[in-house]
Amino acid sequence: MTNKDVAYILSQIADLLEILQESRFRIIAYRKAASVLESLPEDINDVSEQGRLQELPGIGAHIAERLEELLKTGRMKYFEELKQKVPGGLLELIKIRGLGPKTAVTVYENLGIASVGQLEKAAKEHKIREVKGLGAKVEENIIKNIKEMEKREERILLAEAYPIAQEIIKELRKQPFVVSAETAGSLRRMRRTIGDIDLLASSNEPEKVMDFFAMMSFVVEVEAKGKTKSTITHQDGRKVDLRVVSPDQYGSALQYFTGSKQHSIHLRGIAKDKGLKISEYGIFEAATEKRLGGKIEEDIYSKLNLPVFPPELREDKGEIEAAYEGDLPKLITLKDIKGDLHVHTKKSDGLNSVEDMVSKAKQLGYSYICVSDHAKNLKVAGGLTVKELETQIKNIKELNKREKNFRVLVGAELNIDNDGNVDYDSSLLARLDFVSASIHAGFNQSKKQLTERMLKAIENPNINLICHPTAEILNQRPPYELDLPVIFKAAAETKTAMELNSFPNRLDLRADYLRAAKKAGVKIAISTDAHNYNHLEYVFYGVAIARRGWLEKKDVINTWGVEKLLKFVKK
Ligand SMILES: [Zn+2]
Ligand SMILES: [Zn+2]
Repeated sequence: MTNKDVAYILSQIADLLEILQESRFRIIAYRKAASVLESLPEDINDVSEQGRLQELPGIGAHIAERLEELLKTGRMKYFEELKQKVPGGLLELIKIRGLGPKTAVTVYENLGIASVGQLEKAAKEHKIREVKGLGAKVEENIIKNIKEMEKREERILLAEAYPIAQEIIKELRKQPFVVSAETAGSLRRMRRTIGDIDLLASSNEPEKVMDFFAMMSFVVEVEAKGKTKSTITHQDGRKVDLRVVSPDQYGSALQYFTGSKQHSIHLRGIAKDKGLKISEYGIFEAATEKRLGGKIEEDIYSKLNLPVFPPELREDKGEIEAAYEGDLPKLITLKDIKGDLHVHTKKSDGLNSVEDMVSKAKQLGYSYICVSDHAKNLKVAGGLTVKELETQIKNIKELNKREKNFRVLVGAELNIDNDGNVDYDSSLLARLDFVSASIHAGFNQSKKQLTERMLKAIENPNINLICHPTAEILNQRPPYELDLPVIFKAAAETKTAMELNSFPNRLDLRADYLRAAKKAGVKIAISTDAHNYNHLEYVFYGVAIARRGWLEKKDVINTWGVEKLLKFVKK
């Protein structure tokens, strides 16, 4: 059980006690204990084993005893008994903002409502306003807050969280009382989806920072405001946490709050072996408690003879071992990208013309794009007929005559059908510069069928790239099952590249698959699947995921010049 798990149970106990209208003091005690555990820098299991639970602030004899039971047995009798007394859905109900335990109990007693679904239905049918003491306003708020809650509960896409965070950081950095500000947590590590948006700042006047944060223009609600930590709701419905530390602890705090937890645990182990101790407050000599540093992250890492890892690598997936062996990858960066190989235009289901896409690509400093509109079998996406594709080939040839230092490649995004066959005949495909193929339907096939289907496309000599290989849509559709080792082996042998699709709700292949692909010798294309010219900028997120997948410039075919790329195409 992690600190977070335990903290969650304690806060649930507080919620249950509220519903049961128990003693105010007891409720506060459990809330306090939960928040202590939430921010506890050491593992609660260790604390318990060493009999130090009661040394923690806010943990008295009663709670300590129950925690010990929970940590030892994985269960807590007290918690179970409380749950028995309260209908399950009520706990869920009080999670809706503005619906306190009192209202929850009122709707339960009057209307028998014990789930969010029932509550929403009743509110929409105007049954809430008829309950004595509630009224129309409460009813409207319930509907609004349920919507917000649903939004809050799904994980935030990186591309949604990142701009929100950058906007806040930019403002913070402008303030004279802010020394530094940075993202932390999974956002700084650039995971595909983020839980909460975590920010860290340093300042000698923390309360000024907290005041400023709570007053920022996009804040719709201040959920909690403390001296060094506050939580607000952004107008986009997302929660943002900001923590402030003193400037001389900024490095150690940034390291600590960036995580990942696994990475930090590994570091702590190494520190221990060296007679050192690290925490969010700094790096210390274990024996004397003498503080050795913590102002910058390098203070921590350098004492362990480690480099400051790019945040994207901090997952304890071999980066620490690789660093000691001098084997860390030199990660790809955004400026290594020379073109985009997966771009749609209004000829299929895109919004813009080839010319529009080209002009945006030039702004990004690219030297080529590949126009890969959908092909004829994918009629729902406006797939090009043979005749339309021939016109496209001709038009792009003309366009290239007018272009200097820029090349438009003609391609297509073929649809891999249920049997692994694709659109157009091979004489037409041979006239294209770069050919992609992907699976857009028939996801319910077995792993074996899907794998065979994709293998057939990979082995097709006309196909250069498999797009969005697992078809995962974040928060919506899980990846379909593929035998990836088999797929990657075939892709490497046939020189078929695999896509890292940069579209914010795809980011497919994901980081660990990218690493496996690289290991198998597969080349990757980081492309955007742009359906309008602004989408070309999504490459930023693709590169972030590539870095999480340990990719280097040489692994990615669209870091190459167009000549080298076209040589690769002749597979
Ligand atoms: Zn597609
Ligand atoms: Zn596409």
